[in-house]
Amino acid sequence: MAAKALSILIADDDDGDRKQVKRAIKKSGISCEISESANMAEAISTCEKKSIDCVILDYLMPDADGLQGISMMCKQNSRLAIIMVTGHGNEAVASEAIKRGAVDYIKKSEITADSISRSISNAYEKVLLQRKVDEQQESLENFSRILVQDISVPLNKIRGFSELMAKSIEHKDYENVQNISKQIEKSSQRMQEMIDALEEYNKLEESKLNFTSVSIQQLVLETVDLLEPIIRNSNAKVTYDALPEVTGNAPRLRMLLQNLILNAIKYCDEPVPSVHICAGKVKERWCFSIEDNGIGIPEKYYHDIFIALQRLDPKSKYSGLGIGLTICKKIVEQHSGEIWCESEVGKGTTFYFTLNANENENAAETA
Ligand code: ADP
Repeated sequence: MAAKALSILIADDDDGDRKQVKRAIKKSGISCEISESANMAEAISTCEKKSIDCVILDYLMPDADGLQGISMMCKQNSRLAIIMVTGHGNEAVASEAIKRGAVDYIKKSEITADSISRSISNAYEKVLLQRKVDEQQESLENFSRILVQDISVPLNKIRGFSELMAKSIEHKDYENVQNISKQIEKSSQRMQEMIDALEEYNKLEESKLNFTSVSIQQLVLETVDLLEPIIRNSNAKVTYDALPEVTGNAPRLRMLLQNLILNAIKYCDEPVPSVHICAGKVKERWCFSIEDNGIGIPEKYYHDIFIALQRLDPKSKYSGLGIGLTICKKIVEQHSGEIWCESEVGKGTTFYFTLNANENENAAETA
């Protein structure tokens, strides 16, 4: 189940039935906020106004039947976890409900704390999974769209310069030919960099990962050592608290830290870029933070920066391809974690990511 409280709507015209469902949900211990509607119009309007996760919908409503209700609700929000409640357990109705977008159905006579809890958990998990698939699909579509756009830029430049070169040769303007050839070289280098970065990203998909106990402290130490020339040249200060061990893949986690530390140094205009890394435990996971005093990121871009080849200011003085954070997101997801950022423009950014704690550590804590 999700950690946050679910928002559940019980839509049933019978006051007694609503109370029965409400009692069963309360008894099940599910952490939730419950809204109620006595007819379909009210239910639809509640779904419009509130962010509802799950609807427990009676088949027989005074102003519309439950099946029509499912279609209307799904049209409004295709990722609602709808559970249809049928009076007599009519199989035909149940299968039609599923066809129209309900995730589960339950007979009124079988509503208990256990059954309703199971049904809500299953329905919500299914919806979460579907949302994830949708997100992946969206990110894949974004990826290919941006790829086509971005690779076209240097390619078009090369085409233009080649035409110019042909003309210069025709006019025996050999001095210009040399200049143009440098521009062609620059554009092809840019294209090569893009292809290399995408290849690196694709490689992340291929191999099966070996997970072991990994000391993040050790990885930070190694990364800082590796980046020493860059740290020295930019006059940066990288500090860190005592950092824990996690279960993960060391080379990938090293890549993650390296990308985030490099960005923290790169996107900074202060005389002394400062980067601080620390960690705090949240349930069985560690939440790491990498805080900088850099240029910051406007809130509306918090999501976009993780999309491949997406840069806030492509023509900016900061070099890059916009693939680093996409790689970071992929790595964190391969470790079943999450990554996000919080920032204040002009003050700095903190990137957070979660990783599973070392299994032995969790076992020792519960012993
Ligand atoms: P790149 O650095 O190659 O452009 P990334 O995927 O690593 O690609 O980052 C995407 C964009 O997010 C960057 O172009 C930059 O605009 C922004 N960004 C990333 N890290 C930071 C940071 N620490 N501070 C400010 N902006 C950042």
